[in-house]
Amino acid sequence: MRRPLLKLSAAAAVLGTCTLAIWTAAGAVHRFAHVVDLTHTLSEDTPYIPIPGITFPFKKTTIATISRDGVAANRWEIHEHLGTQIDAPSHFFDQGLSLEQLPVASLVVPLVIIDVSTRASSNADTSVTVADIEAWERRHGRLPAQAAVFMMSGWDVRIGDANAFVNHDASGALHFPGFSVEAAIFLAQSRNVAGLGVDTLSLDPGRDSTYATHKAWLATGKWGVELVANLSTVPPSGATVFVGATKVNGATGGPVRLIAVW
Ligand SMILES: [Zn+2]
Repeated sequence: MRRPLLKLSAAAAVLGTCTLAIWTAAGAVHRFAHVVDLTHTLSEDTPYIPIPGITFPFKKTTIATISRDGVAANRWEIHEHLGTQIDAPSHFFDQGLSLEQLPVASLVVPLVIIDVSTRASSNADTSVTVADIEAWERRHGRLPAQAAVFMMSGWDVRIGDANAFVNHDASGALHFPGFSVEAAIFLAQSRNVAGLGVDTLSLDPGRDSTYATHKAWLATGKWGVELVANLSTVPPSGATVFVGATKVNGATGGPVRLIAVW
């Protein structure tokens, strides 16, 4: 909707609205009725895939305090794949794009949510299939080009219990939902999707320790995000996601602030 600047500013002041407004060079404004944070707060308790000698929990240490130093600051100990985060193609491929090389236009895209939560509630090993995507398209129309397709398994309600989130069995195998390899290939090759997202710890179903979906997907030069929050509050079609990826030289991934608007 296009309106004169003055009129809009006055209306915003009267309503006291906190709706996100983006001013454009032409003087028009895009406003969103809904702004939702899809990011989990990173803390020492955030679950992660345990890989001996490689992964470790987040740690925050105070390095300055206002009472002592006149300024407050913390040191973070983190690896690139901890918390709500993004995988760059270089996570699995030496010649793949690293995080700072991802085209920024691919990080602000239409958001599509595939709901497999009913199935996931009785089968932790379920995955998003090509049939799930086709069922979404029958209800909502063909996937928009350069969309982000996120799996909603309902897993984020477990965020306060790291053991339940990782869900390893007595043999050490992990059990949580993810994308099937076939679905990832279909989304890359037949729908030109920009990115994948999951509300679990991995693009792959937890039981796949070979990371087959990661490899199939990241080989196409696209991104994936993991540990997404709050998807149940976002419509399955019609939102836009902003993937606020950190920009570190040569990074294989990193924390993101994920925000959905519509
Ligand atoms: Zn990953």
